[in-house]
Amino acid sequence: MKKTVLREYARLIVRCGANVQKGQDVLVYADLDQPEFVQMVVEEAYKAKAREVTVLWNYQPLEKVHVRYRSLKTLGTVKEWEKARQQHYCDTLPARIHLISEDPDGLKGMNTQKLAKSRQMIYPILKSYMDQREGKQQWTIAAVPGAAWAKKVFPGMRVSVAMEKLWEAILFTARVTEDPVKAWQEHNANLKARCDYLNNLGIDKLHFTADNGTDLTVGMIPEAIFCGGGETSREGIYFNPNIPTEECFISPKRGQAEGIVYSTKPLSYQGQLIDNFSIRFENGKAVEAKAEVGEELLNTMISMDEGAAYLGECALVPQNSPIAQSGLLFYNTLFDENAACHLALGMGYADTIRDHHNKTLEECRALGINDSMIHEDFMIGCDSMHIDAITRDGRTVTIFHKGNWAF
Ligand code: ZN
Ligand code: ZN
Repeated sequence: MKKTVLREYARLIVRCGANVQKGQDVLVYADLDQPEFVQMVVEEAYKAKAREVTVLWNYQPLEKVHVRYRSLKTLGTVKEWEKARQQHYCDTLPARIHLISEDPDGLKGMNTQKLAKSRQMIYPILKSYMDQREGKQQWTIAAVPGAAWAKKVFPGMRVSVAMEKLWEAILFTARVTEDPVKAWQEHNANLKARCDYLNNLGIDKLHFTADNGTDLTVGMIPEAIFCGGGETSREGIYFNPNIPTEECFISPKRGQAEGIVYSTKPLSYQGQLIDNFSIRFENGKAVEAKAEVGEELLNTMISMDEGAAYLGECALVPQNSPIAQSGLLFYNTLFDENAACHLALGMGYADTIRDHHNKTLEECRALGINDSMIHEDFMIGCDSMHIDAITRDGRTVTIFHKGNWAF
């Protein structure tokens, strides 16, 4: 890929994605796949007047080695210096940039029970720091190609060809055009108009149906609103958490989901695939989960903690979105969730509550925002997806028809 185009993309991530501020620290999380691109992002962050940029490298095969050889006790311990580091981030609020490129099944064969247990041990300690930072930090997730990932998306091609093809797909969906910043402004305005329409309906429930058997009703929180595109941090800084993004999403009311949903794309959870699955809900809780591939892992995911069995997100994405139109299956949630309607199990987004900046996290959760250590999107959208909104004044308004917006 041409360096000038990559430079545009790096600038988009820093300026439009994280919107790095003068004097702000920046954390960049990256795998080892694209060190030169990571360098560009770091440089762009400094050009945006960042104070200090720190790169935290990750390498999936090493993760496997650690989980294999370390005891559960050491994997599940948060050391004092780590706590101090977390507190430092709470005090300094660095912008976070995640550059993902991992192999969708790069952790295949790992002891998932051991990893799940260690995460359950660590989470309560890290949670207090995460809650302190909630809504205050700008963050963005964007993707770069990794060799194994590219081979998975474009099987049968040479690695170099597959990598180039994946770059093209990433840059296309990220709207890296002649003028990416302008393209994003227009895109954000479109998403906002969709959300405004939905928010004016006064939706009480969403009813999802599809030819594959999906028939699910989900209750809404009266105080919650559909959000999409960029958002504003508590510090008043506008940023784009996902590059790309095509969704209008809301956090549903915990405890109100009835019926069954069928997945329409595979889900990569902890580096392993779950495919062709269904989840049945009663009183908001996932009570039965079946999968052709990865059923045990799916059930491990749902039982990570109490909130993992409840919904945290309903997101609407039309089948004619640019990502869906690309016809590619990315095996990566950032892309696949923006190509189809999806739900998420686990943590809900407190910032979908109207006027959330003037409410505490506890107040938002008391309104019905779910809380969990997981937030896992899974795709349910398809060409026959139909969604009716049942409004608080008793009307039924079709908002999705044959997989696309009905308004
Ligand atoms: Zn989503
Ligand atoms: Zn999500």
